[in-house]
Amino acid sequence: MTNTSGIFRYEKPWRNFLIEGDIVKPLWRNAVVSDTRTWQKSVDGMVRIPYEISQLYDEETWSSISRGFKDFEKFTCVRFVSHSDEEDFISIQPIHGCYSSVGRVGGMQLMSLNHQCLKKGKGVVEHEIMHALGFWHEHARSDRGKYIKIEWKNVWPGYEHNFLKQNTNNLETKYDYGSILHYSRTAFSKNGQPTLRPLIDTDTVIGQRNRLSELDLLKVNRLYNCTMHLKDKANVLKRKTANRVVEADPRITFKRELEKYLDGQNIAELWRMS
Ligand SMILES: [Zn+2]
Repeated sequence: MTNTSGIFRYEKPWRNFLIEGDIVKPLWRNAVVSDTRTWQKSVDGMVRIPYEISQLYDEETWSSISRGFKDFEKFTCVRFVSHSDEEDFISIQPIHGCYSSVGRVGGMQLMSLNHQCLKKGKGVVEHEIMHALGFWHEHARSDRGKYIKIEWKNVWPGYEHNFLKQNTNNLETKYDYGSILHYSRTAFSKNGQPTLRPLIDTDTVIGQRNRLSELDLLKVNRLYNCTMHLKDKANVLKRKTANRVVEADPRITFKRELEKYLDGQNIAELWRMS
């Protein structure tokens, strides 16, 4: 039996202004990652996302949001700052369901995170932030055909658009079944039968909403060219390791923290930057 723990089926059809379940319809056509308006990078290399947040959140729901923020801040150059006079910012409100636009839209953009979603933890926050940073769903990738089969006959009529392929920039990363942006096997199923079938790793879990995957983090670091978290860090890391100077180096700490975050997974992929 497939392990389905951690799968969170919050992405239910409910509003027609949403595309792909939880994505607000973009104002531009044919949006792809490379065209999507990304957030500006500061001279110090950080990408600051101004946000304002509704006062309707209690301690528990705010904690989910803040833990979501912290994972990005720990492993990428993305930072979340209180909105002051910046033109573009995210307004986080518990409207209805959980959804976001893809990328920076311009001006205020709504990210809805309702209490029900947030009770499941930080995963849904990280999923929606990934959209806001400029990413489409993983199963919508341009190269998805080799990795995933869409079972159109099981898709809820009228919701086929959630499974359309997008012309995405995949940032030279491999397809990621473990992405926080992947749908689950029965997303938008009309009959409980699978709508998505992995073709390579056929028994793998898809649709996890526990945490960002290694490749999710890598994609953020590549899209925003977070050099501190990519090759520069890796080069120093290798030299230091060769000289056995490994303790107390913040870069080593970063590697350890990341491995810990990923439950001891090998993080080699993050260090293979050219
Ligand atoms: Zn989504």
